[in-house]
Amino acid sequence: MSPAPAALLDSVAGTLMVVVVVLFLAFFWVALAFWAVRDARRRSESPLLAVFAAAVNVLPYLGLLLYLVLRPPRTLDEERALLLEEQALTEGPAEVVSRPCPTCGREIELDFVICPYCRTQFARRCRGCQRWLRLGWRVCPYCAEEVATPGRGGSGQAASS
Ligand SMILES: [Zn+2]
Ligand SMILES: [Zn+2]
Repeated sequence: MSPAPAALLDSVAGTLMVVVVVLFLAFFWVALAFWAVRDARRRSESPLLAVFAAAVNVLPYLGLLLYLVLRPPRTLDEERALLLEEQALTEGPAEVVSRPCPTCGREIELDFVICPYCRTQFARRCRGCQRWLRLGWRVCPYCAEEVATPGRGGSGQAASS
């Protein structure tokens, strides 16, 4: 009559279970505390938040809950992205320098030499150096080549530019 070994085994297994569970909970607690500190580092440049995260996580689990409630809502990366987005919104799309086409009035880029909508030409190539010349110019300022008067321009374009 010795049920003792079985009972002993049972109680040993029981204690082992408890130890494993406690160890697991403790490990998880420490891991969560580390996570909270890392999370705090991502959310604030000042080390105060990290210290706070570590301190509050001394309290297992509840501390983490407290930290999650009190932490800054956005990480620094998100903050930066938001700032960039706002800047992009206020500044409008990156400066494409444009002007209205004198003929059709549509917005075209400043260095276009011909309006892509109405085909109005604003410049032509120098025969000598192949650079772009404005229509009003009589002589190429780059190579001094005389500019032939265009057939369609007709009489005296005011050399305003
Ligand atoms: Zn046009
Ligand atoms: Zn030229």
